[in-house]
Amino acid sequence: MTPDGTPRIKLAIQKSGRLTDNSLDLLTRCGLKYSRRKDQLVCFGENMPLDVLLVRDDDIPALVEDDVCDLGIVGFNVVEERRLARLAAGVSSPFEQVMSLDYGRCRLSIAVPEQRRYDGPRSLSGLRIATTYPHLLRRWLDEQQVEAEVVTLSGSVEIAPSLGRAEAICDLVSTGATLAANRLVEAEVVLDSHAVLIRTPGLLESAREEWISRLLLRMNGVQQVRESKYIMLHAPRSALEQISALLPGSEHPTILPLEGTDEKVAVHAVCRENVFWETLEGLKAAGASAILVLPVEKMLP
Ligand code: ATP
Ligand code: ZN
Repeated sequence: MTPDGTPRIKLAIQKSGRLTDNSLDLLTRCGLKYSRRKDQLVCFGENMPLDVLLVRDDDIPALVEDDVCDLGIVGFNVVEERRLARLAAGVSSPFEQVMSLDYGRCRLSIAVPEQRRYDGPRSLSGLRIATTYPHLLRRWLDEQQVEAEVVTLSGSVEIAPSLGRAEAICDLVSTGATLAANRLVEAEVVLDSHAVLIRTPGLLESAREEWISRLLLRMNGVQQVRESKYIMLHAPRSALEQISALLPGSEHPTILPLEGTDEKVAVHAVCRENVFWETLEGLKAAGASAILVLPVEKMLP
């Protein structure tokens, strides 16, 4: 509780790993000021009733399921694996996924040694596949109607083939550098992943729900802003339709009259996608002039 009686929200994020910096950055952009002392497990929110718990990513779904935390940020891969494991144990919705986040992109893929012939899922029949994601792998194999042995390991999956423990692996990949270093090639994508925000499924008391809604709105705003740009340009009235169509991810540009001319107007638009040089060149070729692209600082729908 805060001194004024507001209950505090607890959010779990990864303590140190690939999701940590982006998660803290997202919270900072949502306006959270926190104090974090070295080796501390909790960051206390100073200007919001929100505390951030720093834990191992694998523990996050269980912390949310057990109501130790109200919210958690973790990879979709971890969430899905846990959900399938709980489903197998008869628990159907241990937590709720409330938002996809725009970082932590990777894929859970099956990879085989370079020298092994691969012509589709059938090539995996009868093989041993090492993974730390047995439920996700099993689901994929079942969907593909492939019978293979799932070898569950707790880590260092990529060296399993060279140690003779498996003929293939199923592990997280982003650039593929680790696979290449272990002379493995990516064969199939089992799951596309990115960070997600999860919450306890039950309704909390209204003060806490209100703060969670506020936080979600801000997170949405932060994500939209990241790629958004504000474009201003002058356009001949005759080319307005063509120019509007060229503005990426912008539904309703604002059209303003220009002093002293009837042929040209000013066009202002928020573009919700990246604006590349090619786009600007296209706009110019369509007759636009005085093109200005500005970053967007904050945005609320
Ligand atoms: P912890 O000590 O918290 O258990 P970890 O070693 O399990 O850490 P990381 O390697 O930091 O976890 O990865 C955390 C998450 O980052 C993954 O679950 C995944 O969602 C995401 N991720 C993005 N790219 C990659 C990648 N190339 N390899 C592994 N994970 C990735
Ligand atoms: Zn982990």
